[in-house]
Amino acid sequence: MASGAAEGASDFPVFVPPSYLRRIEPGNPADPLLLQVWPAAAEADSPAGFTDDPVEDASFALRPGLLQKYAGRALMVVTGVCAIHCRYCFRRHFPYDETPPSERVWDAAVEALREDATIEEIILSGGDPLTVTDPRLARLAEQFAEIPHLRRLRIHTRLPVMIPSRINDELLSWLTETRLTPVMVIHANHAQELDDEVAAALRRLKEAGVLLLNQAVLLRGVNDTVDAQADLNLRLIDLGVTPYYLHQLDRVRGAAHFEVNIERGREIIAELRRRLPGYAVPQYVQEQPGVAHKVVIG
Ligand code: SF4
Repeated sequence: MASGAAEGASDFPVFVPPSYLRRIEPGNPADPLLLQVWPAAAEADSPAGFTDDPVEDASFALRPGLLQKYAGRALMVVTGVCAIHCRYCFRRHFPYDETPPSERVWDAAVEALREDATIEEIILSGGDPLTVTDPRLARLAEQFAEIPHLRRLRIHTRLPVMIPSRINDELLSWLTETRLTPVMVIHANHAQELDDEVAAALRRLKEAGVLLLNQAVLLRGVNDTVDAQADLNLRLIDLGVTPYYLHQLDRVRGAAHFEVNIERGREIIAELRRRLPGYAVPQYVQEQPGVAHKVVIG
């Protein structure tokens, strides 16, 4: 491993589940799945504008583990653990140690939600919330359901794509037996990630009545072509998942080599609009520091 890559790996270790490794083409150093998980020497580069907290999450903290960036919605960081370490992750330097996923922190966050009648939707995030055990998540879902003003429970997770067997009976039961409307926002960046096992997991969620959306990140060398984006979004539609957002890369330190010029991103979106039905084209968005909502940029 080159020295820059080793530095990146010591800062944010390589971590990939076997089910994802199996989808990587052996012997292809440019494989779009490999590039997302293997540290590059360029991680040691730190051009101006790339920082540890590029979306200034810390400034939106209501209390440890609970963020509010948008009216009516609150985001709970239930864990710092993920099933994979994506090299471009905007939270790769997030101080998870300061937001431990203890029951005490969760209970305080639930209490804060109970006291704020303006919040209708709770978003579980992380890390990846589905790395937490089902009994703990079931208890949390019950606590949310007892808060009269909450209407929707949204989960931001990459686990159905990383480890599709995680979508098991226990998970489906707490997620769909709650009175809250279940929404799951998955994270897939390339059609090659969406194999038959992932398709089966998504089908189970869909059949259980979960609204499925996808967010992707525009990544140089991974999915920055019209063909790659068309394949991804049409595959998602075939699997019952609506393409929701294509994110411009958040400018996190260590990920500059993934950045695609916004003009190029706009060209890709414009061509997708010509080629695909409108419902298969995600919104091209950017998080801007200090701005409370995502900005549509194409
Ligand atoms: S799954 Fe999401 S939160 Fe986890 S490392 Fe990847 S991008 Fe970051």
